[in-house]
Amino acid sequence: MDEAAEANLPPTSNQKASTPASLATVSDLTMSPESSPESSPESSPGSSPGSRAAEIGLDDQAAMRLALAEAESAPDHGDVPVGAVVVTDGQVIASGHNERERRNDPTAHAEILALRGAAAVLGTWRLDATTLVVTLEPCAMCAGALVAARVGRLVFGALDPKAGACGSRYQICADPRLNHEVSVSSGVLAGEAEALLTNFFARRR
Ligand SMILES: [Zn+2]
Repeated sequence: MDEAAEANLPPTSNQKASTPASLATVSDLTMSPESSPESSPESSPGSSPGSRAAEIGLDDQAAMRLALAEAESAPDHGDVPVGAVVVTDGQVIASGHNERERRNDPTAHAEILALRGAAAVLGTWRLDATTLVVTLEPCAMCAGALVAARVGRLVFGALDPKAGACGSRYQICADPRLNHEVSVSSGVLAGEAEALLTNFFARRR
């Protein structure tokens, strides 16, 4: 077990309480499963293409449920359960889950695989019109890939206090020294993502 897998195991009960308020966005506070995204197209606090896309189709929670379903299949091949989907115009265009063990590839994180799929579908490396939704806070590599791909928006579930690079350890998605900033929403269905990870590591012991 290397550092990335260990880092994927978040503390449980006290973690949500320590979620930095600065990571939350208005959509975290207002989005609910019952809300009708079509009802207020002009009231969006965010103006990024990804944010708009999320409102006219899948909302953050619905997209996260698909990412969680991706994560659930990773343990089938011995991988830590992390899943991701890429959303544009309210639709999922690509998805992925952690396949590091399956592929013997240190870069085969869920986010990387989903970004590659999205780029192939869209025919461009520039993914500024997309939202990446992932169950766990991205690591430094994946956060760097989000910046490199010019991803418009990131939505993640559980914090990764050991290796998270979108607020926990590093702030790669909002570093003014870099040439692109990614809008970040965190904590979406975080408890479910944490439960997947906790159960995975508990079974391994
Ligand atoms: Zn990663």
